[in-house]
Amino acid sequence: MDGPSGSGKSSASRGVARALGLRYLDTGAMYRAVTWWMLQQGVDLADADAMASRAGDPRLVMSTDPDAPGVTVDGVDVNGPIREAAVTGAVSAVSAVPEVRARLVALQREIIAGALASGGIVVEGRDIGTVVAPDAAVKVFLTASAEARAARRTAELNGTTVAAQKVEMARRDRLDSTRRADPLAKAADAVELDTTPLDLDEVIAEVLRLVKE
Ligand code: C5P
Repeated sequence: MDGPSGSGKSSASRGVARALGLRYLDTGAMYRAVTWWMLQQGVDLADADAMASRAGDPRLVMSTDPDAPGVTVDGVDVNGPIREAAVTGAVSAVSAVPEVRARLVALQREIIAGALASGGIVVEGRDIGTVVAPDAAVKVFLTASAEARAARRTAELNGTTVAAQKVEMARRDRLDSTRRADPLAKAADAVELDTTPLDLDEVIAEVLRLVKE
């Protein structure tokens, strides 16, 4: 399940995983966790070589339980801090580094292989259908209007406005879609689903329908 932030990916992916008894992986949380670690370590986020040389250092452990997803870095629970503005503002720079992507894609494929042995997994991100799992059985690309996306993000966060979120999301979209390494892109065989007029249950129902097809 790919798409930009605010498209409804996380809630829909978790809901689909629960409905089908599958595991769930939030790959955005992995990029956020590495970003949190780089900030903690004082790595210069304007220096791609510095980030590349440290890309293999943080030890990430992911929970793939759709009822309790999460990430630890070197044993530290970072699920709160990775949602803070400092990480959100920096994550596009870190996720543009090819060495960071290569490391996380390898880890994602390991997690997917493990989950496939025990039923399957719903994976959400930006490059799942194109790069991480090009052979996925079902590929969905979620979209939503800029207004709907900003309104959803604003409802999730405290102390922000729809207007401010719209600006921040447009900035992150631009960075995520114009980078050279694995830009946000819809796979040719993905089904595009515009979630603007749909509530969460309707999005989940539509994805479950695609799975059954
Ligand atoms: O999904 P979320 O908004 O938490 O993702 C945070 C950031 O992580 C994105 O803006 C993008 O830069 C990066 N990301 C990525 N590839 C993925 C998932 C997320 O580059 N598969």
